[in-house]
Amino acid sequence: MLELIDATKTYVQGRRTVNAVRGVSLQITGGEFVTIMGPSGSGKSTLMHLMGALDTPSTGRAVFQGQDLQTMSDRQRSLLRRDRIGFVFQAFNLLPTLTGAENVALPLLLGGMARRAALDRGRECLTKVNMGHRADHFPDEMSGGEMQRVAVARALVADPEAVLCDEPTGNLDTATSREILSLLAALPEPGRRAVVMVTHDPSAAAYGTRLVQIRDGLVEADGPVCGTEGRG
Ligand code: ADP
Ligand code: ADP
Repeated sequence: MLELIDATKTYVQGRRTVNAVRGVSLQITGGEFVTIMGPSGSGKSTLMHLMGALDTPSTGRAVFQGQDLQTMSDRQRSLLRRDRIGFVFQAFNLLPTLTGAENVALPLLLGGMARRAALDRGRECLTKVNMGHRADHFPDEMSGGEMQRVAVARALVADPEAVLCDEPTGNLDTATSREILSLLAALPEPGRRAVVMVTHDPSAAAYGTRLVQIRDGLVEADGPVCGTEGRG
């Protein structure tokens, strides 16, 4: 489904070049919930951007469902992100002037779907994350956990094959983090959908099926997660 093949990413910072990712190969398939951990600055966000078609590798390849991302135009990559990849961020990134349902429906509205159909689908997704009763509320009327549920619903609105999360529990307390992690753990479907999450929270890895540890732009360890917390 998602594949990096000897991918590197080099940034220029003034006169300095930074090798943020230094040759990573990863293969992620439907049904997996992959947790990516590593020290700050080790290249986790950059990896996520490569997998999510937000950026392209300097060398090597990033492949989504058999399509080489670096051969696609910016327009094609942006359509891929809109229609086939969902994103969840630490800061929720909801628009304050839109209701929950409108925030969730926004990707569909931007894609040209009729307002009524898009809002119906938005409400349906909110119900899936137990936020149906808050569909007409604005973000500033919601708790952090509720806002993140809305953001997860928005990530699901196009029924994406990959859901990519960057520190999704970074702004949440422990109990609320667990709720969001349980919600994310329920999303992968074998042969259909994978979830990838970057996190600093060591207890979050237990919710995943696989843990990838990154250090200095390289994969340091990669293996299945033993244990059943958050699953089953
Ligand atoms: P992490 O997510 O593990 O904290 P990042 O992927 O954000 O790591 O960053 C890895 C390295 O790449 C850091 O040294 C960071 O400063 C650098 N970096 C990341 N993004 C950019 C960018 N857009 N421009 C320049 N340097 C960047
Ligand atoms: P993280 O929370 O994973 O450490 P950061 O807060 O370092 O991520 O980075 C947030 C955003 O800024 C990312 O999109 C990253 O690519 C970008 N970024 C990080 N470092 C730099 C940098 N030195 N110059 C420009 N952009 C950067």
